[in-house]
Amino acid sequence: MRSLNEELDALRAASLWRERRVLEASGHGQTRLKEGADAAREVVNFSSNDYLGLAGDPWLRDRLAEAVQRYGAGAGASRLVCGTQSAHVVLEETLAAFKGTEAALAFSSGYAASVGTLGAFLRPGDVVILDKLAHASLVDGARLSGASMRVFAHNDVAQLEKRLAWAANATGPDGRVLVGTESIFSMDGDRAPLTEIVALKERYGALLLLDEAHAFGLVGRDGRGLAAELGVTDRVEIHLGTLSKAVGLSGGYVAGSRALIDLLYHRARAFVYSTAPPPAIAAAAVHVIRGILMSDEGARRRARLWDNVRHLRKVLGLEVEDAPSAIVPVLIGEEAAAVAAAAALRARGFLAPAIRYPTVARGAARLRLTLSAEHTFEQIDALARALQEGQMAYAEGDEN
Ligand SMILES: *Cc1c(COP(=O)(O)O)cnc(C)c1O
Repeated sequence: MRSLNEELDALRAASLWRERRVLEASGHGQTRLKEGADAAREVVNFSSNDYLGLAGDPWLRDRLAEAVQRYGAGAGASRLVCGTQSAHVVLEETLAAFKGTEAALAFSSGYAASVGTLGAFLRPGDVVILDKLAHASLVDGARLSGASMRVFAHNDVAQLEKRLAWAANATGPDGRVLVGTESIFSMDGDRAPLTEIVALKERYGALLLLDEAHAFGLVGRDGRGLAAELGVTDRVEIHLGTLSKAVGLSGGYVAGSRALIDLLYHRARAFVYSTAPPPAIAAAAVHVIRGILMSDEGARRRARLWDNVRHLRKVLGLEVEDAPSAIVPVLIGEEAAAVAAAAALRARGFLAPAIRYPTVARGAARLRLTLSAEHTFEQIDALARALQEGQMAYAEGDEN
């Protein structure tokens, strides 16, 4: 029998060991990193998905604290037992109105939303076709569903068409064919060719799941996402996203037709067999959507974020017009080199951990820089200098 320590040693040998880094939140893109026994180092955090700076925001903390006073701490049970509180219902109505769909369902995380939805929507005999770089939660959900899974090369519509043509013959009259992709890719920061994908899946009578985890709150009017920006909301069957990134809280959602949501309510095991998210989090999420995303404050934060994105791209010598997202990958290659680059940055006061296999392909390790509305141009300039001193090559995510 193979030992646990042998497995762990193999991770270390392949530069895939992950140090536990402990942070103390402080805001404005700054954070304290606990090192050694008690030593704490101030670092500027370029690794969080808290794009609008809401996770530590004093106004949101107050809304959450009020909601805890009103609703209590935990939900107490699954939504189907006695866990549904008015805050969940209001969140789902707010999400549906915001996304422009008939209905929505709140999950305890985006991961649970993916796994629960794919598992409920697909069964053996169906086909699911995923972008090669689609998030692990989509892959896991696809596997769990028992449907046949195929992948197409990243953003390669010609290859997607081949898979769709194959799937049309591989499924029976009852069979579903589902295409799954992210709207903004979490590790490369580029966008899916969504309009083309929508047209293609329609031509083949397939359905589309769109994971907007990195677009929700940032892209489209009021941050409704890429489908809204491109005017294809009604042509995407399953809208999926998270409240843990731009919204600054935690939890996942699915939005779509009433029938889809009713089906998930009965069949999504990650929903049915899991305690409802704390109602206070649901109430706070409604405050973010209505009070920030849909208000001038949201517009101001998004404008600051996109200014920061353009500034970082400019100082790194990247294309500035039409910056696709708040994620800027600095491709390094070898896992050990990426770990060394992250350590060099940390020594200079910047947090941007090395992203390695299995999150990205072997040999495609990178520093993943994420920007927040809270960062200042000074912090971004200093990061660029640190990258230059560390002689780290800049490159866009692999676009092959
Ligand atoms: C983060 C992420 C998820 C999971 O969301 P959580 O709320 O963190 O569980 C799903 N899909 C993508 C693309 C993500 O980046």
